Amino acid sequence: MRMYDIILKKRNGGELSEGEIQFVVNGVTADNFPNEQIAALLMAIYFKGMTKAETLALTLAMAHSGETADLSGIPGIKVDKHSTGGVGDKTTLIVTPIVAACGVPVAKMSGRGLGHTGGTVDKLASIPGFSTELSQEEFIRIVNETGLCVAGQSGNLAPADKKLYALRDITGTVENISLIASSIMSKKLAAGADRIVLDVKYGSGAFMGTSAEAVALAEAMVDIGEGAGKGTVALITDMNRPLGCAIGNSLEIAESVEILTPSSVPPSGKEDLYEICMVLSAHMLNQAGKGTLEECRTLAENAIASGMALQKLQAMVTAQGGDSSILSNSILTGSVENGKNGLPKFSRAKHQHLLISPSSGYIQSMDTQKWGIAAMMLGAGRERIEDEIDYSAGIILHKKPGTPVKEGESIAEFHTNQTSRLAEASAIALEGITITTVPPEKSSPLIYAQVDKYGTHYH
Ligand code: URA
Repeated sequence: MRMYDIILKKRNGGELSEGEIQFVVNGVTADNFPNEQIAALLMAIYFKGMTKAETLALTLAMAHSGETADLSGIPGIKVDKHSTGGVGDKTTLIVTPIVAACGVPVAKMSGRGLGHTGGTVDKLASIPGFSTELSQEEFIRIVNETGLCVAGQSGNLAPADKKLYALRDITGTVENISLIASSIMSKKLAAGADRIVLDVKYGSGAFMGTSAEAVALAEAMVDIGEGAGKGTVALITDMNRPLGCAIGNSLEIAESVEILTPSSVPPSGKEDLYEICMVLSAHMLNQAGKGTLEECRTLAENAIASGMALQKLQAMVTAQGGDSSILSNSILTGSVENGKNGLPKFSRAKHQHLLISPSSGYIQSMDTQKWGIAAMMLGAGRERIEDEIDYSAGIILHKKPGTPVKEGESIAEFHTNQTSRLAEASAIALEGITITTVPPEKSSPLIYAQVDKYGTHYH
């Protein structure tokens, strides 16, 4: 078999066989092909597309190109969750303890953030002492002892995807549904869970700009998951607004604790975050066989009301070396005393700056990507992969889309330790907000559609 012939076949619109795809993935993993050939094949795929069978074969080959997690030492059905990334998306921090509190073990590998979106591993790393770098044995032990562990993704998970993604990134071949779906799902399959719940976001702060693109990606990912024998369901959710009010690592941990704290109503301004967490939790519990979706939602609500979900988060933080007393330390009031074992508690950033509304009216819309970039400029995210994060930096929204605002009132509070980019961050955030004199029409639904093995269901 020759890579050259495979490139020609795809360039001419042919369907590659499983054997040919395996040959490509083996060769990419072993560095057998020059980058020019791999890039040429990627471009041919970009233009000619891949069938469902090719997409599944590529995903399975990439999933098995390196280490795979063996979760067989954890009894019960393991359900994974994946979000395609957003701004203020701290759903993993809330949903995983809820699901674990309902008796479903959660062994989750998560990634770091880049650009305007944050990563769960960075959020957790803001907890002093917390370790996300665990051996496979520690990972399994913690899940078996506490019911929940969130670790960083092993460096050798789906190495073929890592190489292909790096080439796609510099050759204009990222935006192809089959390539995106196989890239994401190869890592999910290698992570070893039995069932997968996907949160595919669309909108200004998301990887997919429109709901139609998000549906197409979700359908491709569900096809792959089901084809690989893993029950898979995807929710298509709106990212035209940040989720909740906090953007930035330790600020998002504090907000997650607020959502998990028993209360009769979801905290004001955070109803969207609460709702999405309830729906994702219900789907994960449903996938684990805990009942109908309605029954599972009740289980999730009870896990918060009883305090069990918050206890699960505390148990996981302790098991992973962090100081769980930090979870009762309000970053917003600025407590900086030392916690257990002399570890520092969350510290409030040195500078707070209010973003003031230039006019009166209603917040018509927010460009979530611009707000994510503003948070990154304050230090909350990485512009380049090697950048250091300032864990206490970020934004607390005082106003969300749909709410009235008066001239001179604050729209948001910026937290930062370095004021050098404060003006730039304020400008981009203001640019990313539209204020009108008329109230906005009904906002788009938080959950737009659901994709499962039976098809796509619009809400
Ligand atoms: N995220 C991934 O992991 N892969 C893609 O191709 C796009 C987003």
